[in-house]
Amino acid sequence: MKLILASSNPGKLKEFQLLFKDSEIELELPPYQIEVEETGETYLENALLKAKAYFQEFKQPTISDDSGLNVEALPGLLAVKSARFAPELKTQEEKNQKLLDLLENQADRSAYFVSQLCCYLNDDEIFFFEGILKGNIAEQVSGNGGFGYDPVFIGEGRDMTLAEDTDWKNQNSHRYRAVQKAMVFFNNSASSQ
Ligand code: IMP
Repeated sequence: MKLILASSNPGKLKEFQLLFKDSEIELELPPYQIEVEETGETYLENALLKAKAYFQEFKQPTISDDSGLNVEALPGLLAVKSARFAPELKTQEEKNQKLLDLLENQADRSAYFVSQLCCYLNDDEIFFFEGILKGNIAEQVSGNGGFGYDPVFIGEGRDMTLAEDTDWKNQNSHRYRAVQKAMVFFNNSASSQ
């Protein structure tokens, strides 16, 4: 099965290419990117908006990912709006520092990443898969790998950030878990036909 990726985020793209390597699912990039306004109130709504828009534009089965970081002590601040957190700050480094500043002296640093995938095969076959990675917000920024909030997130049971722990991230992330669910589902559907 071929799926086009409805995303312009280079960090996600790199991870998806790795996750689908050697699988039955062939991931392709669309000929160009389209702008999709993320007006949904949930990850699921936004994943659907993106997948549907790409499907309508390119008329090909599409996979999208809407993801974000939920920080328990800052309810509603990032989560589904993670990509739009602190819009006055230009770089991700500044946003990561701002997150640490907001959590200064905060005992509860628990957080989790969510990846909501939408596989839009056609208007009648639309499937959703979710993956979650629990962890904590670090005390300081560390590491150069990954993307986004990786330098400030420590996975559950780990002692370094995802940006320092990229091999572990690639086998345990919210995106990895969602992709595994999609693969099991599509493999089972293929074998029952
Ligand atoms: P989206 O492109 O609207 O889904 O926004 C995702 C937001 O969550 C972006 O700000 C990303 O930086 C952040 N994000 C999603 N997944 C990850 C991840 O695996 N690591 C770090 N940040 C992530």
